Amino acid sequence: MSLQNELDLYESVTLRSRALWAEAQRYMPGGDTRTSVFWPPYPLFFTHGIATQIWDQDGIARTDFINNFTSLPHGHADPDVTLAIQDAAAKGAAFGGGNEPQVRLAKLLCERLPSVDLVRFANSGTEATMNCVRAARAFTGRHKIAKAEGGYHGTHDAVSVSVKMSPALLGDAANPDSVASTAGVPDAAIRDTVVLPYNDVENSRRIVEANAAELAAVIVEPMLGSAGMIPASPEYLRVLRDVTYQHGILLVFDEVVSLRMGTGGAQERYQVMPDLTALGKVIGGGLPVGGFGGRADIMELFDPTAGPRVSQAGTFTGNPVTMAAGLTAMEKLTPEVMERTEALRDQLAEGIHDVSAEFDVPVQVTGMGPFYAMHFTDHPINNFRDAANVDQEFKRQVFLGLMNEGILVASYMVGALSTPMMEADVEVHLDALRRVLARHAD
Ligand code: PMP
Repeated sequence: MSLQNELDLYESVTLRSRALWAEAQRYMPGGDTRTSVFWPPYPLFFTHGIATQIWDQDGIARTDFINNFTSLPHGHADPDVTLAIQDAAAKGAAFGGGNEPQVRLAKLLCERLPSVDLVRFANSGTEATMNCVRAARAFTGRHKIAKAEGGYHGTHDAVSVSVKMSPALLGDAANPDSVASTAGVPDAAIRDTVVLPYNDVENSRRIVEANAAELAAVIVEPMLGSAGMIPASPEYLRVLRDVTYQHGILLVFDEVVSLRMGTGGAQERYQVMPDLTALGKVIGGGLPVGGFGGRADIMELFDPTAGPRVSQAGTFTGNPVTMAAGLTAMEKLTPEVMERTEALRDQLAEGIHDVSAEFDVPVQVTGMGPFYAMHFTDHPINNFRDAANVDQEFKRQVFLGLMNEGILVASYMVGALSTPMMEADVEVHLDALRRVLARHAD
C-alpha cells in the first residue's frame, strides 16, 4: 500500500479537523500558526489530552509520543501540574516583580545542572538561545557565533542558518556554507554565523580555529533534536570544549530538549561542562518558558545591581503560573522516574528494530534518555545530512500510517516517552508500526 492510501485513510477519519482547517485559512495564513508542526495535507486539530492520550477534533484518541514536541514530560494534564497551575492562576497570573516560585525553580536548576551557577528565565527556547548569544557577544567583545549544521535553536536571526533544508543547498559537507533557513534573515546575520559539520571532530576544530578571533560562542545541541535525535559523540563535545576553551570562545549547550537525558542534563551525562546552557520546554511544566544559565562571571552581566551590562526583559518572564508548573513538573522528574522511562524507551527502540526486520525494512533508531527517532535507512545516522538522506515519501507514509493506527509522533519521526507510559503503551506503538509496515508490504 502506498502513501496515497494512508492519505485517503487519514482524510476519511479527520473530517472535522479538515473543516476547522478550512475555516482557519480565512484568518491565519495556511490555516496555521506554527510552521514547525504543520504537516500536509492538513494537521490535526486537538481538543484535549489526558496522560498518554490525546483527542482530535473528530473524537479520535491516540497515544501521544510527541507531547507538544517534548515539552510535557508527564504527558497531558498531569494532576499535580494542573493543580499547581490552578492554584497559581487563582492568585494572579503575573506580577511586575519577583515571586517565590521563581526562586524555587532557579534553585532546583542550579542544583541539578553542574555548570549552572546562576540562571534567568524567559518565555521560550528562542529567547533563551538569543540571550546566550547576546551574553557571549557582550562577554567576549566578539561578534560571530558558530552552530552545527542542522542544529535548531529557535527562530531568531543568528541561529536561523543552515537548519532544516535540502542538503543540496548546504555546500561541502566538510566545510558547510552558511545558508538562511528562512526568507527574511539579513545577510549580516548569515555572515556572522559560521556552520560546523556535526560529529565531525577534525573539520569542526579546523573551522573554529580559523574563525577563533571573531567567535564569541559555539552553540550546539548535545543531541540534534529536531534533526532526528542524533546524539553527539562524546569526543565531539570534548573537542568543542577544548577548542573553545583554548581560544576564549564560550561554549553554549542548547539543552532545551536534551535536559531530560539525565537529572543534570546532557552535560552531566557526557561530563562536558559548557559555559552557558539554554533551557526551555520541560522547565515550564507545559507552559511557555525559556531559561538560560551558566558561569557566574558571565551571568553577572545581567545583574541589574551592577549596571546591568546586558539588559533582559519580557512581560511574562518568570510569571508565577509557569514557574509553579515548571517546579512541580521538574520535582516529579526524579532520577528513578527518568531511569524507568529510559528503560521503556530502550524497549521501544529494540521493538522498532525487530518489527522492521519482520518486513525487511531497514531502520536506524537514534536518541538517548526518553528520546527516539526512526530513520528508515541502512546507513548510520551521525548528522543532519545522514538523516535527510532517507526516502522522504516512505517517511511520510509511516508518519501518516502511525497516525491512522493511533500513534502520534512528529512528522519527522521523532518522539519522547512520557512518565505515565507503561509497557502496554510501547506494545501499542509496536503493534501500530507492525500494521503500517504490513499494509505497506501488501
Ligand atoms: N532549542 C531547541 C533544541 C529546540 O528544540 C527548540 C524548540 N523545539 C528551541 C530551542 C526553541 O524553543 P521555543 O520553541 O520554545 O522557542
